[in-house]
Amino acid sequence: MRTVTATASPSPLPRAGLASRPRVLLLAGTSEGRALAEQIAADPWCDGVASLAGRTSAPMAQALPTRIGGFGGIEGLKRYLTQERITHVIDATHPFAAQISANARAACDALGLPLIVYARAPWGRAPGDQWIDVADNAAAVQALGAAPRRVFLTIGRQGVADFRVAPQHAYLLRVIEPPDAQDLPPSCEVIVARGPFSRADEIALMRQQRIEIVVSKNSGGALTYAKIEAARELRLPVVMIAPPAREGVAVAHDLDAAMAFLRR
Ligand code: NAP
Repeated sequence: MRTVTATASPSPLPRAGLASRPRVLLLAGTSEGRALAEQIAADPWCDGVASLAGRTSAPMAQALPTRIGGFGGIEGLKRYLTQERITHVIDATHPFAAQISANARAACDALGLPLIVYARAPWGRAPGDQWIDVADNAAAVQALGAAPRRVFLTIGRQGVADFRVAPQHAYLLRVIEPPDAQDLPPSCEVIVARGPFSRADEIALMRQQRIEIVVSKNSGGALTYAKIEAARELRLPVVMIAPPAREGVAVAHDLDAAMAFLRR
């Protein structure tokens, strides 16, 4: 992965004479973003930079030159877009990364830059699913109820502190990066692992841990879907947290649509 800093001077347009060639900022941090970076890197018509928040200590390599770290809010992002002569922005961040998506929208609106969201579609309910649909973590805590339960918490490490108000449950938390100890509810076992996980392994884990209920973000995509299938098979309820709305921005759900945006 090639890494450039947020303050790097604008790179020249790589092909002389093609001044209208799009130069895209790809806000990444997802498997979809990585796949799109590969397409953009392989396309002689496009030039671009991928951006990661820098949350994980060993980020997955991107096919595009990559900058790491926040921009400094909307104003910082506007400065970056101008300095780097970005012509298009694609927001391929996680569906639950609401702040960067809002910042991208505000910065692009202010500068008149075209923006799309490239996102996986959320999961839909299948026969046998016992989902309890909720809007956020606070509602998820309520949905767990007052009686103690063994909870498989698969929401990542951000927001886990919201579950400290329900200390009666025994939690199994699975995360990619270790969480801060002070964020954890009192009875919480932590598994640090990066997917994908197989359906058979998820079933075995839930059985072994005597899980009674699963809490999941509706993140969509195939990488983490096995836990949903496992819960269905084991007839376990899933408290399903809906993604925050990303209103007012066109959404592409497939690579072709995202690449077509750069040619518009
Ligand atoms: P967030 O709350 O929407 O963003 C918080 C701040 O992090 C932003 O204001 C921005 O800082 C910085 N940031 C976020 N994504 C960035 C990016 N791609 N490039 C540069 N700066 C970025 O985001 P989050 O929920 O903390 O997620 C952080 C990253 O992890 C995202 O890129 C997302 O794709 C990935 N991720 C998130 C989740 C999740 O469940 N939230 C799950 C898997 C992966 P400044 O304001 O300083 O620019």
